[in-house]
Amino acid sequence: MSECIFCQIVAGRIAAKKVGETTHVYAFRDNNPQAPTHVLLIPREHVADSAADLGPQHAVMLTELFGLAAKIARDERLELGWRLVTNVGPEAGQSVYHLHFHLLGGRSLRWPPG
Ligand code: AMP
Repeated sequence: MSECIFCQIVAGRIAAKKVGETTHVYAFRDNNPQAPTHVLLIPREHVADSAADLGPQHAVMLTELFGLAAKIARDERLELGWRLVTNVGPEAGQSVYHLHFHLLGGRSLRWPPG
């Protein structure tokens, strides 16, 4: 999957602003931010194109990912609230097919999203 843009970010071949990492997860700032904090959390390995491909074998990675999201939210002082969301498929707006979660915060977030 060397053509995958997120795989290239993890490999350091495309620059990104890293904000955190664990054994299985890498977090960096979205380059088209939709909120004052907009961080993407991804598995280092291209284990899934989207959340539709997740299974029990991804439990350790997902536990790390949710823990890192909460740590970043604390670091960014998002005590008033934050959102962790993943888009699956074109109608949901997915544009990169390497599993990722958006961590959004720092402004009032509407519900339901557009
Ligand atoms: P989605 O549309 O849910 O698939 O989210 C993909 C996200 O990746 C979008 O919010 C893009 O702005 C973001 N993105 C794409 N390329 C890069 C990049 N090179 N560095 C940082 N974020 C990126």
